Amino acid sequence: MFLKGKTALITGSTSGIGLAYARALAREGARVMINGFGDADSIEAERMALEALNGDKALYDDADMAKPDAIAAMIERCHAELGGPDIAIMNAGIQHVCPIEDFPPDKWDAILAINLSSAFHVMRGAVPHMKKAGWGRIIATASAHSLTASPNKSAYVAAKHGIVGLVKTVALETATDGITVNAISPGYVWTPLVENQIPDTMKARKLTRDQVVNDVLLYAQPTKEFVTVEQVAALALFLCGEDARSITGANLSVDGGWTAQ
Ligand code: NAD
Repeated sequence: MFLKGKTALITGSTSGIGLAYARALAREGARVMINGFGDADSIEAERMALEALNGDKALYDDADMAKPDAIAAMIERCHAELGGPDIAIMNAGIQHVCPIEDFPPDKWDAILAINLSSAFHVMRGAVPHMKKAGWGRIIATASAHSLTASPNKSAYVAAKHGIVGLVKTVALETATDGITVNAISPGYVWTPLVENQIPDTMKARKLTRDQVVNDVLLYAQPTKEFVTVEQVAALALFLCGEDARSITGANLSVDGGWTAQ
């Protein structure tokens, strides 16, 4: 349990990749604060399951990543009740699939706020605690869409390209403080975020469900397999270790070869 005594704050961790991060870090001893939306009973069951993984405390905070004040309050609650945060993972994200001329401005604003600006607010709040501790690990879940584009995802692709610039900048600012800052860029991972965009993609491209899965999603991925949440979490766990001390400012792909093309 190499993360015993450390506290990890993970945004958007009630589901999908974020929940896999929380489980992987708790399994290695970290106290975790999870965040996100969903059914209250399921979230409480997951919080208790995380505590059972290492016998330490796990907390849930319902901060909306579109609200800077709620993000600041979540970080201070984490510090007061769990310590740290020593590890901050900015993972919350949403998607909307639509051609530019019909793209609703409120969806653009929400995607930029949740997928990009929330990472700024988390880092702004967490870095002072990490500097004081002389140790920190910051990870952003970016995407293959931080390196390449797909049609009908203007806001998402803009936010994901943006978060990599933010990661590089903060990596330079914290390079001598024992802190590393990196992005993980998964290809298509089978989670509710992917499942939910299938109907809109069917509509936007006039395709069947099978065509969307095979000809749109897995078309881009040379392995022809979805990435698993556990594979993404395993990379985050590695980044939290001492062997990863010299990896900072990087954007690491876990995309089945997508962006090698
Ligand atoms: P998901 O829908 O399973 O999880 C998203 C999480 O974010 C949930 O916990 C949800 O409650 C939370 N969330 C959404 N809006 C929020 C808000 N306003 N405030 C707080 N929490 C909020 O999706 P996922 O696929 O696990 O996505 C996680 C991250 O991975 C996202 O940033 C996504 O862009 C990125 N990503 C996903 C894939 C993929 O194929 N699934 C690929 C590349 C990158």
